[in-house]
Amino acid sequence: MVFEQELDLLIRSSYPIIYIPTPEEERVEQLITYVGEAGSPAREVHMWDIVNGFEGGEARNNPIAGLNEVEKARPEIPALFVLRDFHRYLEDVQVSRKLRNLARHLRDSRKTLILTAPSMRIPDDLAEEITVLDLLPPTYDEIAVELDTLLQSTPVRLSEGGKDALIKAAQGLMLSRIRLALGRAVASYGRMDERAIPIMLEEKKQRIRRTEVLEFWPATETMEDIGGLDRLKSWLDQRSSAFTEEARRYGLPNPKGILLVGIQGTGKSLSAKATASLWQLPLLRLDVGRLMGGLVGQSEARTREMIRIAEAMAPCVLFIDELDKAFAGLGSGYVGDSGTSARVFGTILTWMEEKTSPVFIAATANSIQALPPEVLRKGRFDEIFFIDLPSERERREIFQVHMSKVRPNRIREFDLSRLAFQSEGFNGAEIQQAIYDAMHLAFHQQREFNTQDILYAMSEIIPLSSTAGERIRRLQEWAASGRCRAASSDSASSIEQLFNDAKRHVDEPDPERTPEAE
Ligand code: ADP
Repeated sequence: MVFEQELDLLIRSSYPIIYIPTPEEERVEQLITYVGEAGSPAREVHMWDIVNGFEGGEARNNPIAGLNEVEKARPEIPALFVLRDFHRYLEDVQVSRKLRNLARHLRDSRKTLILTAPSMRIPDDLAEEITVLDLLPPTYDEIAVELDTLLQSTPVRLSEGGKDALIKAAQGLMLSRIRLALGRAVASYGRMDERAIPIMLEEKKQRIRRTEVLEFWPATETMEDIGGLDRLKSWLDQRSSAFTEEARRYGLPNPKGILLVGIQGTGKSLSAKATASLWQLPLLRLDVGRLMGGLVGQSEARTREMIRIAEAMAPCVLFIDELDKAFAGLGSGYVGDSGTSARVFGTILTWMEEKTSPVFIAATANSIQALPPEVLRKGRFDEIFFIDLPSERERREIFQVHMSKVRPNRIREFDLSRLAFQSEGFNGAEIQQAIYDAMHLAFHQQREFNTQDILYAMSEIIPLSSTAGERIRRLQEWAASGRCRAASSDSASSIEQLFNDAKRHVDEPDPERTPEAE
């Protein structure tokens, strides 16, 4: 529902106090005025701020006097009273008491109180009386209208494709920031053309950086950069058009997300990044650690903001790294930080389940033990993939990927089959490290590096798998129980083998232990 409709509905349903947290004062006031005028019957709109009071100068310098004016106004006349920056006075005991008294009075009148503020700050004792309404960044169509208005008075050289890209670059930004960026583009180049796109993208990067919990990630990695993981790749490939208008018309729901589970260095983050470039979507990274940090109450506000921005950027991929670390211990009666983590976690989970916007979550976890069980419940992710250590065939592919980056013309001189065979137990990150170590060694000796150097470098590395054996085995068992899917067909068959062996062991009686002998 668009903002105007939602506001109108709240007013008609006699919600007494509406709080709109937004940095866009001008835009929100225009919208409120529109809702006032378009209502039937039309509603009067009165604005108040601490310096000017109401239009006639009443109740200047005094928030209580402002509320008194609202109380005095005739109850049968439909009116909206907009109080600016009122978040600053809500902690005051008199203001808070007055608002609660007023709320009762407003419910029986045709008057509505609207508080606007650049940020969310509602004390607990007012939570019942106040309804929060978010003003989202403008939609694609609203931005298009804004751009058309601006283009009427500016020299333009912008193709339809360029216009579409510019609007997409602006999605997620508030109108005031969009206007600033467009103005900057025109001031820099004397006209509006495709050069406005990087300016808009830069504005958006800055906006996202200011949230401190989201980061715009360049998705430079592609599917070709991933060795192995054939099943995961084909799952992603099958869904590469799933966010198009055509897919909607076909009746497909938006893919929700995937969880990639496996030990470190097996290519989970790499796969998340490659997903964004395969689907040609922007990639946002959520820093859950930062989401939790800071003052009490900030985490919840940040979570709401994060969700709002991610939705405004949609379609996009939202990368959440190491979910298990972020929410470790939750779901087992954890009460650590006065419930903040649990609330943030609950908000994110509910959003994951209910969201219909095309925000695709690519989350990773190094183990499942620490994950709260709710995460794994059906409906949260479309699929959970287990990323095993690479098989010999996959290790060959990984060597191929990295060697073709560092020595595209000499790759045939390397014995990739031997390297793959000798690197049993290595993950992708360790294979890459062995190549770099070999290069350092040879470069230091002022010569070209070769297969032997890589083999030597490998002999110096102790792979993580040598100490993480137990963790890997537990993940394999978990995959064998059918609760997740193996990301590679090699891994699937070896897990199946393991599972069958174990089953045979249980099903088949031991020939040495005949019933007679017992
Ligand atoms: P994880 O997120 O599983 O801890 P990453 O995706 O960060 O691991 O992997 C680190 C690096 O190791 C990658 O940037 C990549 O260079 C290399 N790597 C890991 N797995 C693979 C793979 N399957 N194919 C190619 N490179 C890989």
